[in-house]
Amino acid sequence: MPNRISRRSLLGAAGASAALAPTIASSQGANSQGAAMADNDKIGFAIVGLGKLSLGQLIPGLKVAKGAKLAAVVSGHPEKARRVAAENGLPADAVYGYDDYDRIAKDPRIDVVYIVLPNSMHAEHTIKAFKAGKHVLCEKPMATTTADAEAMIAAAKAAKRHLMIAYRCHYEPQNLDVMRRLRAKSMGKVRQINTTMGRQADLSDPSDVWRLDGKMSGGGALGDMGVYGVSAARYLLNEEPIAVQAWAQTDRADPRFKETEDLINWQFRFPSGVIANGSTSFAYAPTMAFEVICEQGRLDADPAAFYGGNRLTVIKGGQAQPPIPAPPSDQFAREMDWMADVVRGKAPMVSPGEEGLQDMRLMQAILESAAKDGATVKTDWGYKRAVDPAAVVDVPGKA
Ligand code: NAD
Repeated sequence: MPNRISRRSLLGAAGASAALAPTIASSQGANSQGAAMADNDKIGFAIVGLGKLSLGQLIPGLKVAKGAKLAAVVSGHPEKARRVAAENGLPADAVYGYDDYDRIAKDPRIDVVYIVLPNSMHAEHTIKAFKAGKHVLCEKPMATTTADAEAMIAAAKAAKRHLMIAYRCHYEPQNLDVMRRLRAKSMGKVRQINTTMGRQADLSDPSDVWRLDGKMSGGGALGDMGVYGVSAARYLLNEEPIAVQAWAQTDRADPRFKETEDLINWQFRFPSGVIANGSTSFAYAPTMAFEVICEQGRLDADPAAFYGGNRLTVIKGGQAQPPIPAPPSDQFAREMDWMADVVRGKAPMVSPGEEGLQDMRLMQAILESAAKDGATVKTDWGYKRAVDPAAVVDVPGKA
């Protein structure tokens, strides 16, 4: 894994948040940069929910992480859990069920609980983990209601533990590269951002059944895919929308869309004058792309947020430069290593619960506007991100 916590970036973090200074000042000693740590020094993660993401990305990611390791699995399917544990060299007593995982409080092997369940279950299991005295990394979208998101933040504070939302793009090299280019204003001011995040949902896939369920998903395509566009507009600009308008187009005869909206388009207005257009759908061809249009050029990230193979095209003075592939890296390992370093006090928190809550509030505003056929909803409630990822998270191969 490349160096990610340079002296420059730590100083950047200090500038971004004075409150972090004590943590940063003590950031000498071991962290997840450089060579892999000895197993005993790695931070132990319990994965809660053994679905597609856990099995396909997270457990493999922990195998290549430098400072994080798999310590336990939590599942409602004991047989599957025992098999996954055995395949990954975990002892039998590192397998927990949803009902008895309060016992993790007494398990010193577990430092972080990673919640990878359907969205409606995030709050309950996050709060349980805090009550057990553990730190929590929770998948996106943070929850299905802003009230749940607020309760998760309150539980973290009460437990004096870290709550990080698994926004992998905050740690992904190409996204960081674009953020840095924009902070440097190499193509003049940003004027417009366009984000398109969606795919075809499939009712024959159990993983999509809950994503199309209003209560379990909290918003269908918007919470699942659209959240990447909501979040991207904010981290690309490092500012917050002051107003939103949105429109939805849903075919209620399509059996997929009994409870959730399909196509949603929105427009964010930012204080700098930038307009960000966002689109999400569970009934269009797969896309996870964004385009940033500046005064003198365009940055076209397509794909922008795939697990691998992301690609950036820079168009300046009408001339497209050859696409720049993102450096190969395991986004999930980077994200979990970052959480491990936060727990060690060696890195600042970049994607805290407050970031997840801000996206939740904005998605709620999008749905509110769409229900009123594009009525303007004010979103200038004064939120400001504590730490700019571009200032603290290193891009592989760049200073
Ligand atoms: P999945 O459906 O494949 O897995 C969900 C797991 O939860 C399964 O193991 C299932 O058995 C378990 N579960 C427990 N109770 C359940 C219930 N009542 N109904 C359905 N499943 C139940 O889903 P997934 O794709 O792994 O997604 C899990 C979480 O991860 C979601 O919050 C999703 O948004 C998030 N996710 C994030 C990314 C990313 O790139 N960061 C990618 C995919 C998924």
